[in-house]
Amino acid sequence: MLALSLRMMPEPVERIAKRANLPPDELAEKLYAMSRRGLIYRADLPEGLRYMAMQYVVGIWEYHVNDLDEGLIRDMNEYIPYLMDAMASLKTHQLRTIPIGASVEDQGTVMPYEQARKLIEQQSKIVVAPCICRREHSMIGEGCGKLAEACLMFSSAAYFYENNGLGRPITREEAIKILERAEAEALVLQPTNAQKILSMCLCCGDCCQILKNLKRLPNPASLVHANYFARIREEDCIGCEICVERCQMDAIHMRDDLAEVDLGCCIGCGLCVSTCSVKAIDLIRKAENECYTPPSNVVETYMRIAQERGLLK
Ligand code: SF4
Ligand code: SF4
Ligand code: SF4
Repeated sequence: MLALSLRMMPEPVERIAKRANLPPDELAEKLYAMSRRGLIYRADLPEGLRYMAMQYVVGIWEYHVNDLDEGLIRDMNEYIPYLMDAMASLKTHQLRTIPIGASVEDQGTVMPYEQARKLIEQQSKIVVAPCICRREHSMIGEGCGKLAEACLMFSSAAYFYENNGLGRPITREEAIKILERAEAEALVLQPTNAQKILSMCLCCGDCCQILKNLKRLPNPASLVHANYFARIREEDCIGCEICVERCQMDAIHMRDDLAEVDLGCCIGCGLCVSTCSVKAIDLIRKAENECYTPPSNVVETYMRIAQERGLLK
């Protein structure tokens, strides 16, 4: 009941108390306890604590990385395809895909909010958390063995994770090393869908509940905010198939011993580009009118999503 009286924006206890018709002291205690249990979000701001409702994914589910059990994993895997169908019907998504640095290093048109290193270098507080998708898959014997700590949290999200025991603080240098390992292990970079990001997920196509379920849908690329796509020059391809293994979206297939990209599945992550030994793959920026500009901050993103879900009048 209390969670239903919260909004998709951080608010002080006093404001929520008026709406919930409860004494602020009693409410403060309850909201804090709920946020500690990963049911709602708490922003520890210099001006005081702020609380907001959280979506199930990305949000409540990820906050349960330390108390997973087989029942929760089974229920989640049964539920997520339905949730993905609902999420796919929205125009605004919570995450976006940005290219790995090496795939676009010669290009001058990459926007600052598309550059992973720059986004990390801007952060003053960083926490790394275990990847719940890979943890739950390994708990049921289906782990992919890739990077276990793969959720980078920034700013107020980093404090929330640290204070709730969900992750450990790291330096910018350590975060860059994690980024380099993600590139080596072929993980897709998925930051918050905002110019000022609060998180960056490093995802694989085997375990990531978002990518894995996107691949079930027709034309998954149309459901991802991405500004790039891969193009292969057939005449240069030597048919080594490394790009097929690197692609987490199963977007590359071999035809007559040459690699071919299915643009309906390509989310412009760039993972195929840097490992092609003959440089037969380029990452191409979409036409300007097709490029996506993320909202300036996460609150704006959530407000858009809430509006599209009919939760705002
Ligand atoms: S697979 Fe990606 S979305 Fe899922 S928890 Fe790991 S890093 Fe986050
Ligand atoms: S990695 Fe390059 S050479 Fe190898 S199959 Fe892919 S495009 Fe062809
Ligand atoms: S083809 Fe696959 S690996 Fe290459 S950019 Fe597209 S989604 Fe990424």
